Amino acid sequence: MASTACIFCKIVKGEIPSFKLFENDKVFAFLDIQPLSRGHALVIPKFHGAKLTDIPDEDLREILPVAKKLAQVSGAENFNILQNNGRIAHQVVDHVHFHMIPKPNETEGLGVGWPTQ
Ligand code: C5P
Repeated sequence: MASTACIFCKIVKGEIPSFKLFENDKVFAFLDIQPLSRGHALVIPKFHGAKLTDIPDEDLREILPVAKKLAQVSGAENFNILQNNGRIAHQVVDHVHFHMIPKPNETEGLGVGWPTQ
């Protein structure tokens, strides 16, 4: 169900390099190429679909546990999980992706789980 034109499908297939954080049969996770904070990760279904409503539940069920694990590994006490659908909602890449964005503050360290890009 991959799209030959999709940049995230190309990342999953290894045709475009990424800093991979996790992979199983349904999910792929990697560092965002333009991170909003250190450890900003994207968790995506391997199944290609532009919007959340395009993705089968069985694939979606695998996403949040991975995002949760990446948040834990990041060491962040504060973080956002978000997912945009459609241009008005600020979606740029038309392959469903969940952002895990650590929110550092002055008292907590970050990046115990992986190096900076
Ligand atoms: O949710 P939205 O579609 O706006 O986010 C797309 C995200 O994909 C951006 O944060 C962008 O930096 C990231 N991206 C990436 N690697 C690419 C292309 C986009 O990490 N090759």
